[in-house]
Amino acid sequence: MVRRILKVGDENLRKVCKPVVKFDLRLWLLLRDMAETMRKADGVGLAAPQVGILRRAVVIDVGDGLVELVNPEILHEEGCQGGAEGCLSVPGRRGYVERPQKVRVRAQNRRGEFFEFDAEELFARAVCHELDHLDGIIYLDKMDHEIFEDEEEQDGKEEKR
Ligand code: ZN
Repeated sequence: MVRRILKVGDENLRKVCKPVVKFDLRLWLLLRDMAETMRKADGVGLAAPQVGILRRAVVIDVGDGLVELVNPEILHEEGCQGGAEGCLSVPGRRGYVERPQKVRVRAQNRRGEFFEFDAEELFARAVCHELDHLDGIIYLDKMDHEIFEDEEEQDGKEEKR
């Protein structure tokens, strides 16, 4: 089921989300709906608070397949990348944001099992962007400047989260 995406200005986007404690059917349906909602909106990531659920769960797909992260945390970050960023909760706008080049992440899967992985470049950017949502942070808080159509990055890649 595609859920409604909350837009900037909604106070739910500014709250710190609670950990997921039950790895049950309700969580699975949430994750399924989040993936469906993200794809429908043509985004590369979506966090639970963006659909009004104040729990620490995100989905990401930067083109390498769907990744579900429950209670994710960044263990370590390295380097720095600057680039264009957008957000499904901030339609029609993009900004230049600096993020780590690489992050080491620990999370739980939908069954509650812990796993760790490294994310780089666009994947790292998406992880950082989505994890920020879980703490009520929107990329607008971190962006250096707004990006307008005529100063688009050379690769012109459209990324929405
Ligand atoms: Zn976002």
